[in-house]
Formats: sequence, C-alpha cells, structure tokens
Amino acid sequence: MDVIVAGNREELGKAREAAGLGRYALVPTMGALHEGHRSLIRLAREQADQVVVSIFVNPLQFGPHEDFSRYPRTFEADLGVCAEEGVRVVFAPAVADMYLPDRQIAVSAGAMGSVVEGAFRPGHFDGVLTVVLKLFNLVQPDVAVFGQKDAQQLALVRRMVADLNLPIAIVGAPTVREADGLALSSRNRYLSSADRVTALNLSKALRAGAVQREPERIKDAARAVLETAARFDPPLLLDYLALVDPATFTEVTEDHRGEAILAVAAKVGTTRLIDNVVLTLG
Ligand code: AMP
Repeated sequence: MDVIVAGNREELGKAREAAGLGRYALVPTMGALHEGHRSLIRLAREQADQVVVSIFVNPLQFGPHEDFSRYPRTFEADLGVCAEEGVRVVFAPAVADMYLPDRQIAVSAGAMGSVVEGAFRPGHFDGVLTVVLKLFNLVQPDVAVFGQKDAQQLALVRRMVADLNLPIAIVGAPTVREADGLALSSRNRYLSSADRVTALNLSKALRAGAVQREPERIKDAARAVLETAARFDPPLLLDYLALVDPATFTEVTEDHRGEAILAVAAKVGTTRLIDNVVLTLG
C-alpha cells in the first residue's frame, strides 16, 4: 500500500479516513531516517494496526547557534524508507503549518528539562515537549515510540504524559548501533573519517563504565577513555558525563541501587554527539 503524505490537520484527517480504523502508533522524527528510525517503526508496527511517522525539523528545539539550517533534509529518501517499512501515513508539516506567527503558549519541561542535556541546551526540552504535545494532538495516536538514544527526551515525554494525563502509551526502543559501537544518528553524516575515529570513544567510554559496579568507579572508567580521546586529532570535547536516575535525571548517589543511566555528550569537529547506556547497580 502507498504511503499517504499529509501536511496539515485537514490532510491528516483525510489520511486517517483512507487508512481506516484501528490502533494508531506515532513515530516522531526529524527525518534523515536511518536504521535506528527503522527499528522504531518496526516496534510501532508490533504495537498498532497503522503507523504514522512524522517528519519535522522543529525550530523550537534548536538553540540560536545550533544546526537547524544545516540539519540534513532527505525527504524523498525518507518516504522510500517509510514505504519499505509499511508506514501508512507520513505527516510532514511545514513550519508555518505547525506554529502560528503570534503563538503564546508552550510546554515547560520543568527542572528535569534544565539538567544534564538541558543544561547545555537551554530551552531545548521545552521545544521538544511542545512539538510532541502538538503532534499528539494532531495525530491522536494510541501509542507513540521514542528511542532510548535520547534518554532524557524519553523520560520527559513519559513525565509529560503522566503530569498532563495524556491518553497515550509511550514505548521506549533500544539504541541501534554500528558494528563498532557508534550509535546511529542523523548527525553522523557530518563526521569525517578522522572525526569518526574520535567519536567512537563515546560508546567505548560507556562500555568501560558499564563493567564497573559502583557509581564513582563507573564514571572514573568512562572518564579515562574520554580523557584519552581529548588528546586525539580532532579532539573529543566533552560537554558532560553523568550517571543519573532514569526517571528524574538527577545524579545518583554512591549507594544508589537499581537502574541508572550513564550519559555522555561531546563535540567532535563541528558535530555534537550524545549517547547513553542503561546500567543496573547493586
Ligand atoms: P530524531 O529524528 O533524531 O529526532 O529521532 C527520532 C527518534 O528516533 C527519537 O525517538 C530518537 O530517540 C530515535 N533514534 C535516533 N537515533 C536512534 C538510534 N540509533 N537507535 C534507536 N532510536 C534512535
């Protein structure tokens, strides 16, 4: 069956009529689709009768000096991926279809949105949650799938669903990696081959941390890898390494038991990369 492309609420309504009844799953993306996105779509297909993929590079979640204008846009190829993966509807609005020029109201990600990744990207998670809530209202899915690759985003979406009583089930999907460990990302296409060698140290640091048992040892082992990579050419420029509670994103204490997320963000060349791994302590 062909993919139906919708650009606004009216077209979405028609697309849903054409696609038919049943349980709907939404996979929100910014396009430049890769194997990671494909895995989310496959998981969505297991959860629902119809899958809607949204493709929207959301200006609200980019800071003034971030890569909004150069973010990769590969719409025709993305449609091909969606067709191959059995997606029924692609929702690809223009910025003007999503945001009124005089818009006033937005979602606040609260304290949880201003730590870890949020501390380096002020306003980022407000922009993410605002667009996710709008996508939920427009598409009205029963379930939505998000990647663990963006762990704080996933945690904040769960928090928003709980705090605002949204009638949508949230499903988290594991991070898809290259054979050598590099987490797939639309931004990986910016990496030169030398950048890529340095970038591999994000996942290497997470693996080094993951074999340790106590919080300080976990972070020390990961930090040692990152410090070595800081002397590479090009260097790895660390934004943060954090070991946090998966539900709140606050740093865990030395006596923490249960799940924790070891998260890292760094710049390599002109590209900023994030990665994380879920650990069980105690
Ligand atoms: P993006 O297009 O980068 O906004 O990502 C759209 C969705 O795909 C988000 O829920 C991401 O967490 C998820 N995603 C991105 N990269 C990966 C990956 N390597 N593995 C699994 N999911 C991913």
